[in-house]
Amino acid sequence: MEIESSVPLMVNPACPCDGNDLLLLCALMGRAIIRVGCCDSCGYVGYIDKPTREWFDMFYRSVWDKADTKTAKEKPYVRGLHEAAVEDIVNCYKIAKNARILEMGSGYGNTLYHLKQLGYTDLAGVEPSSHRVESAKRGSTIPTIRAPFEEAPLDAPYDLIYSFHVLEHVYDPAVVVKKCAALQPEGGYLVFVVPHKESVMTTLLFLPHLHRYTEYALSGLLTHAGYRVRKCVISDQEITIIAQKHKTEKVFYQFGLFKETLDYFRNRLGVGTHWYHPRLLWWYRTIGYDEGGQLPFLFPSLLWRWMWHFHHKAPLQAAVVEDAPHKTTAPLEIQFSGNIQMLIK
Ligand SMILES: [Zn+2]
Repeated sequence: MEIESSVPLMVNPACPCDGNDLLLLCALMGRAIIRVGCCDSCGYVGYIDKPTREWFDMFYRSVWDKADTKTAKEKPYVRGLHEAAVEDIVNCYKIAKNARILEMGSGYGNTLYHLKQLGYTDLAGVEPSSHRVESAKRGSTIPTIRAPFEEAPLDAPYDLIYSFHVLEHVYDPAVVVKKCAALQPEGGYLVFVVPHKESVMTTLLFLPHLHRYTEYALSGLLTHAGYRVRKCVISDQEITIIAQKHKTEKVFYQFGLFKETLDYFRNRLGVGTHWYHPRLLWWYRTIGYDEGGQLPFLFPSLLWRWMWHFHHKAPLQAAVVEDAPHKTTAPLEIQFSGNIQMLIK
């Protein structure tokens, strides 16, 4: 998806998890400029220049959900990884069968249905996508509100609120967590599962994922909203954080994570590995990996493109610029020949 210069951008100078300044990590340079920042305290990475909330609402309604409808199949209920995870959580924390439970971004309703099978009686979902809600309602009687969580009229209090792969999509996670806190009594459980260690190109260019979290970022986010972190489980694919609403003092994290994050990004992008001088690095993306290569700076760009296509059988995605002149002061710069091209699938 092309980010034309008419897309309205808003400046977000602060980390949504702890309010500290975002330091400039990377600049996406096309007809528009999008700066990507990193929080030195918690390692959070997100856009400093971000399309407005209204623009994203339009994007989700018209592009994202439509794109999904084409491939969405109404599969019969299966006990997948998320159903197993939610079962582990309710067992581990001894959540009572009559507890009030809300899933944020309940999708096709699978995990709620699983809880119902386990004997839970007071379940509800909130989900912005109409066709997912309709599909969930055909399969079960669990009440589901069709609205974004931030705007949904919800019947508080909830003893457990959980979500799988939602928090990286929301516009402002601090607003979401604050609303959770308003909906929960003291001792209520809040559980988020988000992606972990996505490819660097996914972090920078996959438009629907607005936030890259670390365990420190999630801890900061929850602590600032009045939760105490009970457990944080980290795998190569996901971070699961389980917190409990608790009157507690705010904790500020000071980890010096900017340099570590920049080194990680440079390493994954191959910056600093000199094969040619001067040069550009060209990239394309395959799911889950940072795929790339390097071509000399000496040839005209059409010839690069042809050579790349010939060797790699994939279209060029972007150029990570190292030795060629930078247009910004960002330590990493990705240049596009026209509009910035974000990935949406
Ligand atoms: Zn932070």
